[in-house]
Amino acid sequence: MTSQTEKGEERFGLPDWVPDWARSAPAIITPPPGQKSREVMKLDREYVSHAYDRVFSFTIDRAAGAAVADIDGNLYIDWTSGIAVMNAGWGHPRIIEAIKKQSEKLIHSFANDTYFDKEAEMGKLLSDISPGGKLKGSFFGNSGAEAVGAAVKLATYYTRKFEFLSFYGAYHGRVGPALNLTSKLKYRFGYGPLNNVLFAPYAYCYRCPFKLEYPSCDLYCMHFMEEQVMTLGGSTGSLAAVVVEPVQGEGGYIFPPDTFMPFLREFCNRNEALLIADEVQSGLGRTGRLWACDWTDTVPDILVMGKAVGGGIPLGAIVAKPEIMKKWRPGAHSSTFGGNAIQMAAGIAHIRAIVEEKLPERALNLGEYVLKRLRELQQRHWSIGDVRGRGLMIGVEFVKNRKTKEPLDITQLQARCYKKGLLTLTAGTYGNVMRIAPPLIISNDFMDRGIEIFEQCITEMENDLVAGEKRPAA
Ligand code: PMP
Repeated sequence: MTSQTEKGEERFGLPDWVPDWARSAPAIITPPPGQKSREVMKLDREYVSHAYDRVFSFTIDRAAGAAVADIDGNLYIDWTSGIAVMNAGWGHPRIIEAIKKQSEKLIHSFANDTYFDKEAEMGKLLSDISPGGKLKGSFFGNSGAEAVGAAVKLATYYTRKFEFLSFYGAYHGRVGPALNLTSKLKYRFGYGPLNNVLFAPYAYCYRCPFKLEYPSCDLYCMHFMEEQVMTLGGSTGSLAAVVVEPVQGEGGYIFPPDTFMPFLREFCNRNEALLIADEVQSGLGRTGRLWACDWTDTVPDILVMGKAVGGGIPLGAIVAKPEIMKKWRPGAHSSTFGGNAIQMAAGIAHIRAIVEEKLPERALNLGEYVLKRLRELQQRHWSIGDVRGRGLMIGVEFVKNRKTKEPLDITQLQARCYKKGLLTLTAGTYGNVMRIAPPLIISNDFMDRGIEIFEQCITEMENDLVAGEKRPAA
């Protein structure tokens, strides 16, 4: 699966199990949306809620490895993993096999009321791979937001306190307690009351709200949180937990300094509050370690998982320090499909594939190569303000002007990319960050082909902007 270049650099190929048809991406036969896609889109627009904010105008048909095909026969390179879900690659044979075998035997495990072997097995697996191996006792639901809700309930139940601290740019989901903790106006607009949550600035060094620089700032944002937000920001003095993404996902693939999570750990200890790490997006190998928390040896009190944990089957989970999880009495929380047979079979297969195939290490290695290539791109393109990341969780932040850092909306750039056969997603408060989150089994070749398209599209975008005099004078 790997080869060496003349310079001795390791190059990764696609795994052997990836079928031939999925190796030749990109291949755009008909400009999307093709005729068949259009027909489905028409039906969908009439019968499916318009709340879904679709960014790709095509109808997905199948996917394998790091390629996605639409029903008109177009083939795309995938830099999204279906929003950080398919970490071990689309159509991994171990997951397919596990689902097939399990579905022939039992689909709904009725696991709220019976015991189920794979639920116990998954519980042990999540404990074994948890940060420091120190968390034990899993609760299973069906989504990231549901898992966040479970974490909030557990923290409230355990501490008998009810206030939470979240961060500017945080995304934890769109229902119930998860929406409470999500900061962006677009997601909160029209809903309320959303209360019991205080928001503090995240350590977003590229756009420091205090215009300071790390490390000379001495992590001023955290001192601001402790000395200002907690005293003047409306606290009731009943802080149950801090809920934090160790790397912000929807907020723009923001990597705080390595002192950030340890500071929060200490802060929680000082305030007798729990530390809840939401690794729904950053987890399961994406940053080059199983958990982003592992980079700073931070052990949260509750770890929240979603997306990749079910291998493509809807699954959200929390795992907590044993003394905390043990407090929950029978009936304290529940979810009909929690511990569902297919969820568990697919989740176990996915996690084993990630661990046994050493995908975090692969992501780290490949990520270094990708970061190097993107930094070269940054030198050639004025619109790239920042390139940041670890492993295959990489953000490229676009600006109208590097000095003023005025954000540049990249909706059009994203559309140009997929029309040429490269799927990417944007993120960030201003929609100006391109996230690069391919399946961890992607090859160097696929990344090279993708970067070529990405650069072509950036050049076109920059030329258009300059021609339209949309770029402010530098
Ligand atoms: N937490 C984080 C960090 C996320 O990125 C997301 C989804 N983008 C969620 C929670 C919510 O997950 P779900 O959409 O499965 O409810």
